[in-house]
Amino acid sequence: MRNRRAAVAAMATAASLALTLTACGQSGSGGSKEDKGDSKGGTIGIAMPTKSSERWISDGKNVVKDLEAKGYKTKLVYGEDDPDTQVSQIENLITQGVKGLIIAAIDNKSLNNVLQEAADADIPVISYDRLILGTENVDYYASFDNEKVGELQAGYIVDKLGLKDGKGPFNIELFAGSNDDNNTKYFFNGAMTVLKPYIDGKKLVVRSGQTALNQVTTLRWDGATAQKRMDDILTSSYKNQRVDAVLSPYDGISIGVLSALKSDGYGSGSKALPVITGQDAELASVKSIIAGQQTQTVYKDLRKLADVASTMVDDVLKGKKPEVNDTKSYDNGTKVVPAYLLQPVSVDKSNYEEVLVKGGYYTDAQLK
Ligand code: BGC
Repeated sequence: MRNRRAAVAAMATAASLALTLTACGQSGSGGSKEDKGDSKGGTIGIAMPTKSSERWISDGKNVVKDLEAKGYKTKLVYGEDDPDTQVSQIENLITQGVKGLIIAAIDNKSLNNVLQEAADADIPVISYDRLILGTENVDYYASFDNEKVGELQAGYIVDKLGLKDGKGPFNIELFAGSNDDNNTKYFFNGAMTVLKPYIDGKKLVVRSGQTALNQVTTLRWDGATAQKRMDDILTSSYKNQRVDAVLSPYDGISIGVLSALKSDGYGSGSKALPVITGQDAELASVKSIIAGQQTQTVYKDLRKLADVASTMVDDVLKGKKPEVNDTKSYDNGTKVVPAYLLQPVSVDKSNYEEVLVKGGYYTDAQLK
């Protein structure tokens, strides 16, 4: 029954409102938000994709901290990039009686059944960073402007190569993220909007010929997979040519691509490394940028994302409508999921100190 969840949600909202009102009436204080409602002390389940990337470790810590500050207990699990593991972890969280779920999916299409179980138990679901697809049982989406991420990466390449000044032609290779992650197409499409006119105008040449999304994805965002693909491309298409730029969607992929390039002699002698982008401002990549290897990354302040997601779940449990700033971009195939999107920022050698160190994301000592 498609409408059951909505009906249950409406009833729950009414019930929790009634409880809230009763609580206010009893205390007579009409007190602060934290004093109200029946959510205090409940447990929120947090399902993250993997510990193999630093960003998700930070996400986990930040969300736990924010929820605890709001009076919740938390259960944090990591699915180690295996969709089945993540599904059973979420099933366990539901069995353990969590009041809400915050989920960064591994495979965005694999959660239908388990989220039906969540809906049957009236557990609200916040889709964290990655949109969960094909189910009505996702309440809100907290993320960054994902298309903008791709635009920033591609825009950086355009600027660095001087394409707007008519320079070129240059050789470029394209990498995208995991094909089971909904963000992948947003990043790639955002980038291609910027790059396509130069590719069409032959100012950017993709010597491998691989320009379609399904030719350039990297399963599970794996750096070694990207390294292998770059190795193959260098062997097949760059025997007598230089690659001038690599569109990389994520720092872990950039590190893999850099390894392939270095094995091929780039970065030594007269063979300069290409412009190479990234995402997440992971520590190893920021150090690589400072060392003049990776050129750019896209910084997404994960502290803000955790704050948005934990506030969303808290609001829903208190019968309050979470703040959203986008109600049209993220259609999951079953419904348009109301979203709050944060702004990503391009970072390179020239502004990492200002953005990352002054912004309190890293200390100078960490970057040494
Ligand atoms: C996230 C990126 C991250 C990538 C790999 C994406 O869904 O939005 O920040 O780089 O997954 O973990």
